[in-house]
Amino acid sequence: MKKLLLTAFTLFISLGSFAQAKLQSPAEFLGYELGDRFTRHHRMVEYFKQVDEAQTNVQVMQYGETYEHRPLIYAIIASPENFKNIEQIRQDNLKRAGMADGNPSTKVAIVWLSYNVHGNEANSMEASMKTIYELVNPDNAKTKEWLKNTVVIMDPCINPDGRDRFANFFNQNGNNPPNPDPQAREHAEPWPRGRANHYLFDLNRDWAWETQIESQHRIKIYNQWMPHVHVDYHEQGYNNPYYFAPAAEPLHEVITPWQREFQNTIGRNNAKYFDEQGWLYFTKERFDLYYPSYGDTYPTYSGAIGMTYEKGGIGAGLTVTTNEGDSMTLKDRLTHHFTTGMATIEASSMNANKLVDEFEKYFKETINTPSVPYKTYVIKGDNNADKLNKLTSWLSSHSIQYGHASAGRAAKGFDYQTQAQNNFSLTTDDVVVNIYQPKGRFITTVFEPQSKLTDSMTYDITAWNLIYGYGLKAFALNEKIAVAKLYQAKKVVNEAVANKPYAYLFRYESLNDVEFLAALMKKGVKVRSSEKGFVLDGQNFEPGSLIVTRRNNEGVADFDNVVQSAAKALGRKIHTATTGYVDKGSDFGSSDVNYLEPPKIALIGGDQTSSLAHGEVWHFFEQQIHYPVTVIGTDYFRNVDLWKYNVLIVPDGSYRLFDEATLGIIDRWVNDGGRLILIAGGTSAFADKKGFGLKEYATEDAKKQAEKVAKEQQEKEGPVKYGDAERKQLSNAIFGAIYKVSLDKSHPLAFGLGDTYYSLRTNTQHYTYLEKGWNVGILKGKQKPVMGFAGVKINKALENTMVFGVEDKGKGNVIYMADNPMFRSFWENGKMIFSNAVFMVGQ
Ligand SMILES: [Zn+2]
Repeated sequence: MKKLLLTAFTLFISLGSFAQAKLQSPAEFLGYELGDRFTRHHRMVEYFKQVDEAQTNVQVMQYGETYEHRPLIYAIIASPENFKNIEQIRQDNLKRAGMADGNPSTKVAIVWLSYNVHGNEANSMEASMKTIYELVNPDNAKTKEWLKNTVVIMDPCINPDGRDRFANFFNQNGNNPPNPDPQAREHAEPWPRGRANHYLFDLNRDWAWETQIESQHRIKIYNQWMPHVHVDYHEQGYNNPYYFAPAAEPLHEVITPWQREFQNTIGRNNAKYFDEQGWLYFTKERFDLYYPSYGDTYPTYSGAIGMTYEKGGIGAGLTVTTNEGDSMTLKDRLTHHFTTGMATIEASSMNANKLVDEFEKYFKETINTPSVPYKTYVIKGDNNADKLNKLTSWLSSHSIQYGHASAGRAAKGFDYQTQAQNNFSLTTDDVVVNIYQPKGRFITTVFEPQSKLTDSMTYDITAWNLIYGYGLKAFALNEKIAVAKLYQAKKVVNEAVANKPYAYLFRYESLNDVEFLAALMKKGVKVRSSEKGFVLDGQNFEPGSLIVTRRNNEGVADFDNVVQSAAKALGRKIHTATTGYVDKGSDFGSSDVNYLEPPKIALIGGDQTSSLAHGEVWHFFEQQIHYPVTVIGTDYFRNVDLWKYNVLIVPDGSYRLFDEATLGIIDRWVNDGGRLILIAGGTSAFADKKGFGLKEYATEDAKKQAEKVAKEQQEKEGPVKYGDAERKQLSNAIFGAIYKVSLDKSHPLAFGLGDTYYSLRTNTQHYTYLEKGWNVGILKGKQKPVMGFAGVKINKALENTMVFGVEDKGKGNVIYMADNPMFRSFWENGKMIFSNAVFMVGQ
């Protein structure tokens, strides 16, 4: 018997002849017809294993495990002949992509089908079982023919935790028989719904950033295969019909004519089968190819024909009555997904030769003749070492090549810090990433200073640049700079540590430093922080630097060992001081050196909070800095003893919770020494409220100004046409654009960040400067995003507004954040600001 392999990518060791189990259909195996129930994830895994055991040309493997310990699996399905050469086929494909050396000897198309990235778009996983069965069903002559020149890889469920959350909800709440009334409870999933993963991340926004364990595992195997066609299966609202590619504008300019053309070929083949049945569908609308972190764009920027397929079905349960009075069943939905799967494999098989040739051509062009203006990205070697190490390991995870130049010299490029072309000196310590490599187009999409937007109406954010996210000194160059030497990771070298020093000193500049601070606090070590910079033994320590004195830590058993081993475990540089008397700045006993009280953190979660925003904070504490957090539900918030905590975090959301009585309790708690951290919608819930100094920007002057700008715009463009109405809304809109925020770097909220922060703004809220309080991050003067799209009215309204502010109240503080710095958890500097709010402010 072939066994499901438990380690990722120990490929094909179980080939050969085995005692064969009999192949069962899904109905035979499950005991019910597909579509009669929502199958739980483990049953699907067992079914795939059954197919693997019954077939010599199928291999099912586990490639990872979710946060809730469910297996992540994928299946390889090929003709018996191809299956014998499957490792050769995989290697040959990497050779075509320029990711392995040598000349290919096989020529086979590779189609990859991914299902159920959104857990409550639940038809997909059901469809995957029908699809794998028909691919190996001995009575199916068509699939046998297709497999002769096409290998199919299936990931039957990208998001098992979310999928089971949905299936369990439905199985527990559904009527028997199923109720088609749209108002029935079975059609109204409660917060947080099944869409996202365990930490409530949208895995279809995470392909590029890989913040989640599911993405990290999947990207590894994806890059070991590099398929030619990739389909990401979804569902949309059940009153919509079916969407399949070709995609809508905007399409990023790195997408090739061939990629557009073959989307069309596949689309027409899908349409053929839908036409035969009279099923409705649409193409070329709504779903664009721009933001690089989707299940369609990531493959597209990696050379595949990447596509999203969407069946109407979210909330439909097993059956529902649509607006048009039709009944929509799970059986129909999975049949539609099954149909596009088959049609896509068929179209790929019919064009397999061309598909493989064009794939090879794509990479030849990518590697030899890239057409975009910026050819090399230089990230200065004197950036913070933790950030460089993190960024380079991210590059490696995507099979991106980088390293150092052979020699230093003068160079010129777009300077991300000034947004202008500047001269600079390239050194052999700088990290060089050029685009003459297989992942060249993907590199362009994440690093280019400005992406061309063919249409300002997009499904997602319009800016995401990692260089701004990390706040790095970097340049984009029009010339190619070759990588001559392997990157030398920045390692901390600790010199001999003084015996029983007066104090240990640590810099505080990165999230690794935050994690270290959290580790010390968990061990009961008392830590201080210098609000001002100081000089000791000729070394500069910036504001925020951590000071661990021997005095006050007498209670910590084996103190020196505890501090030193925590520092070594997290790669921190240990500095020691034999005196508290500094050369310049405040001595360690000064009132400018604050004792940092360990935060006891409460985080609001549940209905009214944005599940995504809640998850971002939850994941940050548990998985990134490993610090405890207590989640408190909005449904019983009023009954909790807030005084058990000294930090309360209100993530983005849309709140009814904060009425006069609740605000009164929070007001008292802050006055007693609590620290309230408000983010985006959490911030707006406290605007113009009694006891809180935050004011929404709505003065008559500002309104008049914004109207004037809009009027001028209209005079230029003429009256609005009916068909343009949707587009007209854009002057008020913002789709995730990056603004340059000026920081007051003397305030603890800005520690480790310098005087500029690039904020990824995803909402239109704007506030006046705090009258009583610290305006730590502001948008000063005229506004225009450094990257991305924002309407004219919005830019006007953002002039001279507060983005990050701190109000001191009684013994406590309120931290207002207009933007969400935790958005999708890929903005390194955003997480630093948030960390400062948690650990540094008000201490
Ligand atoms: Zn979806």
